Amino acid sequence: MPEKLTKELYKNLKEIFGYDNFREDQETIIKNILQGKNTFVIMPTGGGKSLCYQLPAIMQEGLAIIISPLIALMKDQVDQLRSKGIKAALLNSTLSQKVINETKQEVLSGNIKMLYVAPETLNKEDNLAFLKQTKLSFIAVDEAHCISDWGHDFRPEYRNIRYVANQQLGRVPIIALTATATPRVQLDILSNLDINDATVFQSSFNRPNLYYEIRYKEEQADKQLIKLIKEQPQIMGIVYCQSRKQVDELAALLNLNDIKAAPYHAGLDANARIKNQEAFLQKQYNVIVATIAFGMGIDTPDVRFVIHYDMPKSLEAYYQETGRAGRDSLPSTCLMLYSPEDFIRLERLNKTKPNGEREKSKVLLEEMKGYITSGVCRRKQLLYYFGESFADHCNNCDNCKNPTEGYAAQEYLQIVLDAVQQTQGLFDTDHIVSVIQGVNNPNIESHQHQKLPTFGQGNKQNESFWRSVIRQALIHDYLIKDIQKNEALELTKKGQDFLKKKYEINFVKDNIYEPTESNKKTMTTNKGYDENLFHLLKKLREKVAKEKGIPAYTVLQDSSLEELALVYPTTLEELAQIGGLSMSKAVKFGQPFIQAIKKYVEDNDIITSSDIVVKSKASRSKDKVYIIQQIDRKTDLEEIAMAKSQTMDELIDEIEAICYSGVKLNLNYYIDNILSKDEQQEIYDYFMQAKEDNIKQAYKALGDHYNEEDIRLMRIKFLSEVAN
Ligand SMILES: [Zn+2]
Repeated sequence: MPEKLTKELYKNLKEIFGYDNFREDQETIIKNILQGKNTFVIMPTGGGKSLCYQLPAIMQEGLAIIISPLIALMKDQVDQLRSKGIKAALLNSTLSQKVINETKQEVLSGNIKMLYVAPETLNKEDNLAFLKQTKLSFIAVDEAHCISDWGHDFRPEYRNIRYVANQQLGRVPIIALTATATPRVQLDILSNLDINDATVFQSSFNRPNLYYEIRYKEEQADKQLIKLIKEQPQIMGIVYCQSRKQVDELAALLNLNDIKAAPYHAGLDANARIKNQEAFLQKQYNVIVATIAFGMGIDTPDVRFVIHYDMPKSLEAYYQETGRAGRDSLPSTCLMLYSPEDFIRLERLNKTKPNGEREKSKVLLEEMKGYITSGVCRRKQLLYYFGESFADHCNNCDNCKNPTEGYAAQEYLQIVLDAVQQTQGLFDTDHIVSVIQGVNNPNIESHQHQKLPTFGQGNKQNESFWRSVIRQALIHDYLIKDIQKNEALELTKKGQDFLKKKYEINFVKDNIYEPTESNKKTMTTNKGYDENLFHLLKKLREKVAKEKGIPAYTVLQDSSLEELALVYPTTLEELAQIGGLSMSKAVKFGQPFIQAIKKYVEDNDIITSSDIVVKSKASRSKDKVYIIQQIDRKTDLEEIAMAKSQTMDELIDEIEAICYSGVKLNLNYYIDNILSKDEQQEIYDYFMQAKEDNIKQAYKALGDHYNEEDIRLMRIKFLSEVAN
């Protein structure tokens, strides 16, 4: 390349973009494009990918088409370019016909150097007819991983690009760009775009400033999440989970617990999404709770943590999402919560997918599970996944910081390599494990593999043990997986050498994810509360009840007392969050309890903030609201039950639950019709003198004259009037 051109490159870089130097491969990539060659760029987001096509587009004759999947980001990109004085424009379905016509005129006049289009725009006849009249310099395909259904963001319309280009636009150079692509996805991109001759530029996938960790997802995962977020030195992060519903619920819960959080998912309308995203970028929120929809093309430098509340569906998605942390190269944390049930749930979900897709999802999910369970350095595993090798330890992941036990593995490795060799390197992991374990199945028999010397040699160890050995054999380069041949395992040179001359080698055991001892305890005994405080509050309850002349259980139930002794509320607002209490009930009875708890906390030096008190919204579902509204309107209970397709018993169950959550219900309109004033008084008097709230005892005492329904309804009336 002539020196003159290099000079011009640097001049433009400085004058237009304001940089003195190119980063990493940028210069070579740009020169490659300027020579009219097909080019494939794999570069992490934030690495300066877009400059690679923007600069040559400006310098070359003709118009460059940039295909990008996200209409919302297109405008941003074009605005940015225009602010630098670069003539860029966009075409997509959101524009008015007037604007479209103007844009086309401008392009035809030769004024525009870069035209951003959505892939579906390219499929429209009139747009193509228009583009045919232009002289193209090249087509850049941004976010090229969308081409592959092995990737994490497959878009079918992306698979049409080559066809459209060939049919309509002629053979122009193609530049494919993506931030993540496994070897499988890379192959897909090259063959689908028909650019197998492309020069491939791949930057390292290693992000040394990111710390990776996976923890067991506890029974009370919400509480665990809040605690994890509050433990972060800087609260600025993204929480990813799988469902939209969960996004909404978690965001609401975080806000209740003083973490400013906003939801983000495809179910929100575009305006709300943009609003939440911008507010997050401007630090009005500390946390975005999102499904995978969030983050594509977003370049926020100082996201300090990414937490996966649910297990992602593929390692590529995991890498891409964790990659949104620490773009500024400062230390950042990537945490995943995992429970084996997550895996089972995703596996079940897979079964509903069409055949081909199901097979792919299964492979991806197995790889994800392998990553989670493996004791091998996380970074080494991730980089291996993207076809990059890495030293054995990064010292910046949980497996490096807390290694699992190691074991001498040569004997096991030999069995695996023997099995692969004896089956001629034609079979996948499932099959090899069956051979080693001596499992007879039609596939084994049709290949006569039950006759192999290795058949059944590993029947003392379980399946997951052998999968783990195979994973480590792959990562340590004894085996290779042929992704073009049904994932078949083959020996590498290193593997063949090992079989010729064995040597000592250590592998590591898998991680085990199960409840910790302390977690188990709280789950089974459930006596996490402060028993001293509980007894103190119980005495106080007697006193309050006596003063008011009402039964103790109507003041507060035992379960509410236990909760008080667990979370130490010291304000009315906090008190009203306790189960069985509403704000009005807290106001009615709360003061003496708050005083007592305050004193107790001070006397005993209890630091209440050390335990995270998870506040949750009273579970007043739509159904409950419906019942409360109907009772307010004095609707006949039978009618309500009928409308909800419930028996009367079931309805009363629900009304009781509402009453116990502290809501005052007026059922007089109904009770007056079924019981006389005297009868009502008799039941009322019984509850007033009762020592405890027990419907069986009440029935024993009153059952001669009244049925259970009468008694239960009267109890609701009584509690509503006295307790709530
Ligand atoms: Zn590591």
